[in-house]
Amino acid sequence: MANIYYDDDANLQLLQGKTIAVLGYGSQGHAHALNAKESGLDVIVGLREGSASWAEAEAAGLKVTSVAEAAKAGDMVMVLLPDEVQGSVFKTDIAPHLEAGNVLAFGHGFNRVFHQVPTPDGVDVVMIAPKGPGHLVRRVFTEGGGVPCLIAVDADASGQAKPLALAYAKAIGGTRGGVIETTFREEAETDLFGEQAVLCGGVTELMQAGFDTLVDAGYQPEIAYFECVHEMKLIVDLIYEGGFETMRNSISNTAEYGDYRTGKRIITDETRAEMRRILSEIQSGEFAHEFLLDNQVGQPRLKTQRAAGARSLVSEVGRRLRKMMPFIAS
Ligand code: NAD
Ligand code: MG
Repeated sequence: MANIYYDDDANLQLLQGKTIAVLGYGSQGHAHALNAKESGLDVIVGLREGSASWAEAEAAGLKVTSVAEAAKAGDMVMVLLPDEVQGSVFKTDIAPHLEAGNVLAFGHGFNRVFHQVPTPDGVDVVMIAPKGPGHLVRRVFTEGGGVPCLIAVDADASGQAKPLALAYAKAIGGTRGGVIETTFREEAETDLFGEQAVLCGGVTELMQAGFDTLVDAGYQPEIAYFECVHEMKLIVDLIYEGGFETMRNSISNTAEYGDYRTGKRIITDETRAEMRRILSEIQSGEFAHEFLLDNQVGQPRLKTQRAAGARSLVSEVGRRLRKMMPFIAS
């Protein structure tokens, strides 16, 4: 079982009197910057010139500069830019400004594990990755709680990398929820696997296949959408609250009986073998290679698939049904 660290295991004073540079002010960046500032740390946000978030961060009372200036000012530099730009921004705007004794931090292990960011001399390299989206990291913190975090140490020049990572986790609220130690490789590989095989790729294709089966059999697309897409949230919310058991307690016995009877015919031995192949493509760097190359040539694969998705029947039906339910957006 994993070690779990809480508030008392972390010393915020290790970061007091130091400058924390948060690069990026998106989903994670805004939450880290604001939480750390309210924990009493000296925070500076690094953004592109002309970034739409610049005024927003300043309005929230944060100091904002270019990425390069923030990296220079920062004793601890947290990189919360999109994964696909971190390698090139690191080379031009971050690496030249790091010096021995600095801490370089990430919210995801991707760019270290797949060799886009080398280890600078004398610099600690750590990860503090909240297990939730940025808006939740911010909201739960303002309510007095904290979203649990993962931490990892990839280079420990100072011998203090882990306590420093724990201090940062405390500053953003992570130790209120609990902090689990992992490695960059475990975090990056399991994160990619989860989103590809289960959370994003797996779930959407499962919904799509169910929707197509009903529509092809002559049922109305609106009914198929409610059954195979829309209602997923109700089931997932129950699992989120109390695991599979709570979900199965809440559904009818008819639904529960059907659940046991057919699940293994949908996720077959063949599906599990494919999951293992997907995991090995992640572990070998094949996925990272393909994704990084797509980004170098202007994302033709990503954008083509995104456009095809938007044109599909399931998307069109969903847009129409959501108009009947204005309460969803609010
Ligand atoms: P995001 O896209 O929401 O925000 C990225 C920020 O970087 C924005 O402020 C954007 O303006 C800025 N930016 C983009 N390109 C830039 C460039 N070339 N130079 C300077 N600034 C640039 O990203 P995010 O979802 O917050 O992800 C940041 C990191 O956090 C990633 O490593 C991601 O894997 C990790 N992470 C995200 C989540 C999540 O829920 N979104 C959860 C855990 C970890
Ligand atoms: Mg510096």
